[in-house]
Amino acid sequence: MNVLVCGGAGYIGSHMVRALLNKGYGVVVYDNLSTGHRGAVHPDAVFEEGDVRNYASLERVFLRHQIDCVMHFCANSLVGESMEKPLEYYDNNVGGTLCLLRAMINNDVKHFIFSSTAATYGEPEVLPIEETATTCPTNTYGATKLAVEKMLPWMANAYGLQYKVFRYFNASGAHPDGTIGEDHTPETHLIPLILKTAQGIRDKIFVFGDDYPTPDGSCVRDYIHVMDIASAHILGMEHLFETGISETYNLGDGKGFSVFEVIEKVKDIIGEDFAVEVADRRSGDPARLIASSEKVRKVLGWTPDHSTLENIIATAWCWHKNHPAGY
Ligand code: NAD
Ligand code: UDP
Repeated sequence: MNVLVCGGAGYIGSHMVRALLNKGYGVVVYDNLSTGHRGAVHPDAVFEEGDVRNYASLERVFLRHQIDCVMHFCANSLVGESMEKPLEYYDNNVGGTLCLLRAMINNDVKHFIFSSTAATYGEPEVLPIEETATTCPTNTYGATKLAVEKMLPWMANAYGLQYKVFRYFNASGAHPDGTIGEDHTPETHLIPLILKTAQGIRDKIFVFGDDYPTPDGSCVRDYIHVMDIASAHILGMEHLFETGISETYNLGDGKGFSVFEVIEKVKDIIGEDFAVEVADRRSGDPARLIASSEKVRKVLGWTPDHSTLENIIATAWCWHKNHPAGY
């Protein structure tokens, strides 16, 4: 069985590639290296450089390789930037996915796994968030992901597409062997920024708001290890092969940690002190995002074995300590 991993040179995609190879799947990575890294792609995967908006290039890939399933990690995914550049976000996230789906359907590839996000929910009314909760994104990024989600049932109806959607909460951590990890430029995510501060690469860590309606005033998030995201995708793909059931699942650990709690945990684990400063709220940030992961546990038999905050920080630290300049 061969899996085409679009975006396999990126943070989550590169971990996905490793998990697939580990399970004996053949892997073809398709990536334009806009935010990904050639060095993140395992040498046992075939690498095809190209853009998901380039139909001719995708068609060549489908002609060259027999593909059983497509996993689609490509996206522009910075919330703030998405508010300034909606054209680019719709172009890549919606237009790119449409082009990929067209190439799949024309080449008779029916299985599709899509990376979606907790940002599709917006400000939640009830916690933990179930998949049936209202989806009302507060930013363009979440809106583009939801737009793709809404296309998929129509593609299934007309062309027999079978799909799984995974809405990730806060992806974090790194491969336990320390060889791949998170390397974004610019980096905006909390845990890598704290670790860069601990390394002295940055002067201080800013806490974006301490006046939220949470126990310590900072935002609460559900951090999910990238290895657990990868294992869910494999279970989802195998479930799709067996049952053909198209469904959407949250991927979170079901526990919330505040920004201050994450900072304190990093200090404990790596034994370094560093400067912390409270700054203004970041626009568009919901106070608390915590997933209900009941559905994915029950239907796919998934358990997030890597997602204690300690393990997330320890594995991310191992990557950052040994790769201070990234790839
Ligand atoms: P990333 O930027 O590290 O990876 C994306 C990869 O896709 C990169 O290798 C990039 O070069 C490639 N890419 C982007 N546009 C492309 C295009 N048009 N053609 C070909 N390749 C293209 O991002 P990530 O953090 O690994 O996120 C992966 C997916 O997961 C994204 O779809 C993102 O929206 C989603 N997601 C991420 C998080 C998170 O916390 N990181 C949370 C929820 C959802
Ligand atoms: N955050 C922060 N300081 C930073 C980066 C992030 O206080 O330098 C906060 C951010 O406001 C959010 C949480 O940390 O409440 C997680 O942010 P991240 O960007 O990692 O993920 P998001 O929840 O936006 O997907």
